[in-house]
Formats: sequence, C-alpha cells, structure tokens
Amino acid sequence: MTAEVEKDEELQGIINILKENPEGKANYQWESGNLLYKGRLVLSKNSTLIPSLLHTFHDSVLGGHSGFLRTYKRMNGEIHWMGMKNDVKKYVEQCEICQRNKTKALAPAGLLQPLPLPNLILEDWTMDFIEGLPKAGGYDSIMVVVDRLKMAHFITLKHPFTAKQVAEKFVEEIISKHGIPNSIITDRDKIFLSHFWKELFTAMGTSLKRSTAFHPQTDGQTERINRCLETYLRCFCNEQPTKWHKCIPWAELWYNTTFHASVKTMPFQVVYGRPPPPLVRYKDRKSNNNSVEQLLKERDLVISALKENLLIAQNRMKKQADLHRRELKFRVDDVYLKLRPYRQRSLTRKRCEKLAPKFYGPYRIIEEIGEVAYRLNLPPRP
Ligand SMILES: [Zn+2]
Repeated sequence: MTAEVEKDEELQGIINILKENPEGKANYQWESGNLLYKGRLVLSKNSTLIPSLLHTFHDSVLGGHSGFLRTYKRMNGEIHWMGMKNDVKKYVEQCEICQRNKTKALAPAGLLQPLPLPNLILEDWTMDFIEGLPKAGGYDSIMVVVDRLKMAHFITLKHPFTAKQVAEKFVEEIISKHGIPNSIITDRDKIFLSHFWKELFTAMGTSLKRSTAFHPQTDGQTERINRCLETYLRCFCNEQPTKWHKCIPWAELWYNTTFHASVKTMPFQVVYGRPPPPLVRYKDRKSNNNSVEQLLKERDLVISALKENLLIAQNRMKKQADLHRRELKFRVDDVYLKLRPYRQRSLTRKRCEKLAPKFYGPYRIIEEIGEVAYRLNLPPRP
C-alpha cells in the first residue's frame, strides 16, 4: 500500500509539501509514514487493493449490498482515494446481485401520519414479524424489533408462535439489553397484545401495572425495515434459501452500522456514541483519547442532531407523498434492463418465492423500437 502511494506522483507531491509544512495542504496529514485525508487513510487511485475493498464494503455480509450512498458513507469513514465517490457509484450500479434482487426505491405513497418523536433512545420500540420464509434451522419467521431512533434487532422464530414465546424472546433479546420499554408499536391484534403483555409481567415476576403504551402502527417504519431485511436476505441467501437464519446476526450488524439518510447517521453511532469498529485496519493508527465525558457529550450532540434530521425527514416524506410518478427513458447501450420473473418460468428452477431474485438479467438494450419499447440482448433459448 505504501509502495503504491510512493509510485503515485500526485500523492507524492502532496507528501513532499506536507514534509516541508505539515499544514501545507488542506485536509491532508502526514503521520508516521501514512498519508491521511481528513483522518482517513489515503490510497493511490491506481491501487490494486481497490477491487477487494469495493468488494468488502459492498458485497460482504457487512456491506450488505447497500445502495451507493450507504456503501460510499461506509467507505468514506475509513479510507480515501481520488475519485473514490465515482468508483463506488459505478461499482454499485453494475453489481449484478443488486440488480437482480432490488426494486428501485420510489417516493413513498400515501399521506403519512408521523408519530410524535420520542424523547429517549431505546425506550420506544416497534415490533413486527416477517412470516412465510422457507424453513431454515427450524425457523420460518423473523421478529423485527426496532427502536424509534432506528436501532434494530432481528430475532428468529418458529411458526406458530404464541404470545408467550414472543414475550420470552422479547425479554431475552430486548429487555435484557435495553430495559423495559416505554411504548411498543405493533400491528398485531389486541388479543395477542394483551396476552403478550400478561406474559411479559409473569416473566418479570411482578403484578405491577406499568403504563407501557401500545400504538397502532402509523408510520410504516417497520414495513420499510422488513423490505430492507428481505432484500438483504435475497442478496445473500437466494441460492441457499434454507440457510437464511445464519445471515441474521450479520444482517443485524449490517443494518445497525449502515448510514441512514433520513437521520444522517447510523444507529450504532446513536446508541454507543462512537462509530463502529473499522473494517480496514492499519498500523500506527492514532486512537482518539476521548474521555467518557467527552463521548457522552458527543452522543448528546448526535442525538439532538438526529432528532432534528428525523423531523426534516418526516416533513420531506409528507411533501413527497403526492409525487407518485417518475419519468423513465432509456438509451441504447448505456442502460441495462431487468426482467421480472413473472411469466419467466422458462428461465427458472423452482425456488422459494420469498427469497427468489426479483429480476432476471440485467440485459443490455440494443435498440429502441418505440416510445416505451426496447430490444434487449437476451441469452439464447436453452
Ligand atoms: Zn450489490
């Protein structure tokens, strides 16, 4: 890596300036043999490591096949090379697994009823379930529990699960880590909820009536997270639909360490007050000797910024609710089209619907036939 930087004339020029004058080049530092840009390790733009870095930050279980912005934010926190943003963009756009498994994110439909913003982290949770998955390790459902400020826990369950089992899981996975919640939002019916609640109190060994509020679901938060998690599982497990349960811990870590545009930070940072451990490590990295007090102060700042951003995001989503349509036009050669599996049975072997790819292809456009008709470069029929 150092040898590559030495061979890079542009970077060598910067290093020479910094050796003369440590403040000679804005945002760059020269520290114990490493060139840093805003505290991040600088690589040559011709570095042979770039392909495997892109792979790690996007394709690995930690990269989670996140979209461009999320992949870029994850990398940008740790490393830098000139033109990195463009390279990441191109790489993500061309990722075949992403193209096969994802629908384009569109403006949300319907008017939103934003919930009041919570005052404290890890007190207001939403609880939802993903059901109908193929059996894996005896499990076929996932309980998705999310703090209103985005920290998520994914918990595997067997169908049919009772309120008692759900309550036990809730104690094991949520209450043990975060304490007793102030409110739980869920779209489960009232009977289930009253049983759930009774079981929770039995488990706590108390008859104390606690005023935890249940709200009907109104903000669509868990639906979005469920879609996110299903996409993740599709990317990593569609070839082995009976092993998805092994991806769940990774999915949870991926989700909580992913940049969320609506709050402009990642859940991990909100809860722990620091960024997650880096994916890339290098020698002689200076550690920040932040005192605990400093950390807590920073966390308070993060949380108030987060709430502000949540409010902005809520307003933005409300405004966007009317914009249902977007214009769409393709050009020959530079765009790829994907086909939905619908009526494409000839191309498929039988797989679990839920984790099956959303699309075939991508196939290159070779001709524009009409306003909305294109000729694709399809593979020959088997
Ligand atoms: Zn991808």
